[in-house]
Amino acid sequence: MKKLEDYVTSIPDFPEPGIIFRDVTTILQDADGLALAVDGVRGMLKDVDYDVVVGPESRGFIFGVPVAYAEHKGFVPVRKQGKLPREVISADYELEYGKATIEMHRDSIKPGQKVVIIDDLIATGGTTQAIIGLIKEMGGEVVKICFIMELKGLNGREKLDGYEVESLIAYE
Ligand code: 5GP
Repeated sequence: MKKLEDYVTSIPDFPEPGIIFRDVTTILQDADGLALAVDGVRGMLKDVDYDVVVGPESRGFIFGVPVAYAEHKGFVPVRKQGKLPREVISADYELEYGKATIEMHRDSIKPGQKVVIIDDLIATGGTTQAIIGLIKEMGGEVVKICFIMELKGLNGREKLDGYEVESLIAYE
């Protein structure tokens, strides 16, 4: 039986020299790989009391929606600037390679809602930190943060101090 990490493909020098990109498409294209990933995240949440899943474009959608559906929770997307049609709140942040702005619909999280964030990978933690800021601005409470993969060497967890963070695969 293959393990989840056997389905990840590591691509050297993508999208820039010196970066090893961890490609999840080889998880997704295999029924067993996809089940291992989605069920792995569901397992992380089995004792967590929460109302809604938040996931960032685009791989946070891929893993967040099946988990939310299977657990009968709603899903709230975090999108890149200019994509959401209604009133938004935004946050600027630094990426492992570059800068970005993310947005959420201003009414997407209700005050007091318990939120789980799901994404494919934590690198520097900047994306997740920005998402936490938006959720807090709307009055939501982040109760757990789940990743398929974690790049430990970039110390992203330091930015998420005080939050419960779990990943299925850790790369040194
Ligand atoms: P961070 O903000 O933690 O530095 O970067 C995490 C974000 O960048 C995630 O949304 C993730 O999708 C993307 N990302 C950065 N590096 C990789 C990588 O090697 N593989 C994948 N699949 N996503 C990455």
